[in-house]
Amino acid sequence: MWRAAGQLHGALAGRVLTVSDFRVPRYATTSLAGRAVTGTVSRGKHLLTRVEGGVTVHTHLRMDGSWRIRPAGGPPPRDHRVRLVLANTGSQAIGYLLGIVEVLATAAEDRVVGHLGPDLLGPDWDGAEAVRRLLADPERPAGEALMDQRNLAGIGNLYKAETLFLRGVSPWQPVGEVAGLPAVVELARSLLDVNKERIGQITTGSLTRGEETWVYGRAGRPCRRCGTVIRRADQGAAPQERITFWCPRCQDGPWGPPAR
Ligand SMILES: [Zn+2]
Repeated sequence: MWRAAGQLHGALAGRVLTVSDFRVPRYATTSLAGRAVTGTVSRGKHLLTRVEGGVTVHTHLRMDGSWRIRPAGGPPPRDHRVRLVLANTGSQAIGYLLGIVEVLATAAEDRVVGHLGPDLLGPDWDGAEAVRRLLADPERPAGEALMDQRNLAGIGNLYKAETLFLRGVSPWQPVGEVAGLPAVVELARSLLDVNKERIGQITTGSLTRGEETWVYGRAGRPCRRCGTVIRRADQGAAPQERITFWCPRCQDGPWGPPAR
């Protein structure tokens, strides 16, 4: 999200909107044209585009959303996947399949992001607070706890799986029993940080296609460290469950996915 925020900021900040085309029913008649965008910031996976007059456009990509920046001019895209177009005389930012599109007072941003834990890429990152929040529910499996944006904001499914592998922690281990939890959190932060400007996500250091990750997306294939077959399973309660990947040898322990 850090990268998407940077792209929106670069295209829109400091310039007056000539087009605000909300293609969601609730805001069909809303127009922000004529107002300057002051900037876009990310908070975890939320994007906050702030507009003159104390207005914030809150968007979230959820699973399938994306922002694309195009030169201005040309007609706005006729595409049923478009949820929002924000444009000025230089650029148009086109939001596809956004999971959230909402207009609110900038002063009320806390209503939508105030529940988030410390932002791993935020200027006000607070690792101790993130660890404190993680330990507030010590029985929770580490893989679930790290994904809960109320504990710390910014870890997606890939970074969860890769961080736990690199620290030798089973995703099923209760988070309260994880040795060196502050180091786990800091590792997740550095993985996010080195990837923040990249399109792809790489945790192995290899740019070669098919070698970008240790365990994520590699179920049924041999562990790069020990050769054991990587496993995958759903983790978390429906409908929030996500697939997790792990090496049962490198991430050893008495814990495992619940029997089905
Ligand atoms: Zn292994």
